[in-house]
Amino acid sequence: MAVAEALPQNAFTIERDGDLAVVWFDYPGEKVNKFSSWVMQEFSGIVDTLAASTDIKRVVIASRKPGIFIAGADVSEFTKVTSPEQAKEYTRFGQQVFHRFSKLPMVTVAAINGACVGGGCELALSCDYRVISDDRKAQIGLPETKLGIFPAWGGTTKLPRLVGLPAALDMILQGKVVDGKRAKRMGLVDEVVPAPILLDVAKNFTQKPKRRGKSAQTKIYMEGNPLMRGVIFRKARKSVLELTHGHYPAPLKAIDVMEYGYSKGIEAGLTREVEEAASLVASDVAQNLVRLFFMMEDAKKDHFTAKPREVTNAGVLGAGVMGGGIAQIIADKTDAAVRMRDINWNAIAGGLKAASKVWKRKVDRRSMKRGEMLRKLARITSTTDWSGFQRCEVVVEAVVENVNIKRQVLAEFEAVQQPGAIFATNTSTIPITQIAAEAKHPENVVGMHFFNPVDRMPLVEVIRGQKTSEAAMSTVANFARKLGKTVVICNDGPGFVVNRILGPYMNEAGFLLEEGNTIESLDKAMIDFGMPMGPMALLDEVGIDVAAKVAHILGDAFGERVQPSSIVDKLFADGRAGKKNSKGLYLYKDAKRQGPDPSVYKVLGIASPRAADAKLVVERMVLAMINEAALILDEKIVASAAELDLAMIMGTGFPPFRGGLMRHADALGTPYIVARLDELASKYGKRFNATEPLRRLAAGDRKFYDAYPR
Ligand code: NAD
Repeated sequence: MAVAEALPQNAFTIERDGDLAVVWFDYPGEKVNKFSSWVMQEFSGIVDTLAASTDIKRVVIASRKPGIFIAGADVSEFTKVTSPEQAKEYTRFGQQVFHRFSKLPMVTVAAINGACVGGGCELALSCDYRVISDDRKAQIGLPETKLGIFPAWGGTTKLPRLVGLPAALDMILQGKVVDGKRAKRMGLVDEVVPAPILLDVAKNFTQKPKRRGKSAQTKIYMEGNPLMRGVIFRKARKSVLELTHGHYPAPLKAIDVMEYGYSKGIEAGLTREVEEAASLVASDVAQNLVRLFFMMEDAKKDHFTAKPREVTNAGVLGAGVMGGGIAQIIADKTDAAVRMRDINWNAIAGGLKAASKVWKRKVDRRSMKRGEMLRKLARITSTTDWSGFQRCEVVVEAVVENVNIKRQVLAEFEAVQQPGAIFATNTSTIPITQIAAEAKHPENVVGMHFFNPVDRMPLVEVIRGQKTSEAAMSTVANFARKLGKTVVICNDGPGFVVNRILGPYMNEAGFLLEEGNTIESLDKAMIDFGMPMGPMALLDEVGIDVAAKVAHILGDAFGERVQPSSIVDKLFADGRAGKKNSKGLYLYKDAKRQGPDPSVYKVLGIASPRAADAKLVVERMVLAMINEAALILDEKIVASAAELDLAMIMGTGFPPFRGGLMRHADALGTPYIVARLDELASKYGKRFNATEPLRRLAAGDRKFYDAYPR
């Protein structure tokens, strides 16, 4: 029997109405419209058709996908680019198709019904007019720099001409995406209209005269002065460098291109766009950022067989730092009613205050109305007893880090809970199986580990205890995603993934301080490596009291492998808890971190502190993490090197441009790592002994990503 050949499907259809053509984009078989190479080929043909037409005078570009206009280029194709020449060809082709489109004699309008980002935004920029729906999903912007590249289908050259230099720099350098209202304010779109009339308004816009790329006259006039422009570009370069420490080349290249294109004209700008962008696409930084993008996409998918349960009533036990934050985010991101319990009203008042502070910041920034804040706050009700908890499908436990207290709270909850209700513990270190040891329903006990501050930290580790059911895992993972978090699924063990890896890292920082290295030189070394914050500042943020507790729990669990440094205990005994009591490794003024506190050295018995050898600091701290991570993978606490990397990037800010801890380890090479660990062990002691799984990999010169694939 002959196999019928599948007919190639089209992504575009043209609908004619007199001299008007509506070009509908509908990527076959996918939820989103994107410019894969074949789609760009097809669109090139559409441009040819329009150019050849004598009776089409007006064109609207529209999407048939609900909530999506165009999501941009097909990012998966980036990972297949192997050479700058190939990247150049790919970029130039797309750019020229859009540029030809922009030069068509007819009036062109983009009817933006949903997400319009990256290449989608660049196509919209190539139209004469842009009309956007006021739907929440209708967002427009150029996020390319977040993927280690910059807009090179004309965006970098054309956006400044439309919205002015400062706004264009702001959007491109930060990879910003904005809603219709903001887009209108900055001049990126011409009109924001309710979704049902979008197409009609777009059609009306085609009656307007053709634009010749001079829509932002006044802004261009202001920046027309080369001196003024020089100042703007210098300032932009400086702030990029301050933010990225030179680790991310894309925003700097984007500035170069804008500066060049601004003075030399559009055609020259476009040529330079292609040259510079091509060198970035195949770079390690872009490849790592693109992989991270896919890891995040993958983490959005559910891999459980059991169906998640909807959460309409959520409980929060403990109204402390974490409890207050967790109650806030549940009320903010879901429609669930939140019941919060603590043992005294003072604590509850503190929790509610912390929650309202997060919303207040939004109100102050005008991203939320006061009425909305009050409505959300009113959805959190509080109690010191167990009333209302029988209604909860899920409770998140965030009481003090003590296994006996957690077991007690669990037993009390089980006495009032509805059948099948889930107890999700936010413990940072205690194995879930231990907490559930005396539970009547250990299958309903699961780890749901948030990071501090809850509203800003994107990771939640969802942890399976020995007896946790698939239904409980699936419900909690789904719930965490509804809260806007990236979920990494973990198996049980002290410290799970992130805190277990941070343990040796922070510990090594302690040893380095003890040896007489200055606080600021240790922090600088790790910030230069790419961490968002140095270990000393982190210790103050986390709380020296909390760190002391964590160090002991991990120390008890792992024995001499985690030989603890003594500094945390010494500092804690000196009354230093870190930022929370404005007394730590740094000095504080009005709760803001100032310089390092010189009295720390006296407490630690250090007579003359000196600047550290940055290279050695990085090596000791990073290899300590890799060594522990090898064990975590071997013990199957997390399923793959990629998921471990996602957890470290989202949970600690491990530099995304390095692709994560294991990707960095693979770049160093396992044999090199073991050789260096051997040397460090002979100098500093057993804590650097290479772990067995790491030695095994090194012996076969294997990579973590090959040994622990997804
Ligand atoms: P916290 O001390 O700020 O708050 C704990 C609260 O629990 C207090 O208000 C206390 O009154 C209350 N509490 C004590 N016993 C209770 C009971 N029987 N019923 C109800 N409430 C009770 O502590 P936190 O920093 O919010 O930490 C809470 C949990 O979250 C701990 O398990 C901790 O390990 C974990 N955690 C903390 C962080 C962090 O950075 N602070 C991060 C992740 C996880």
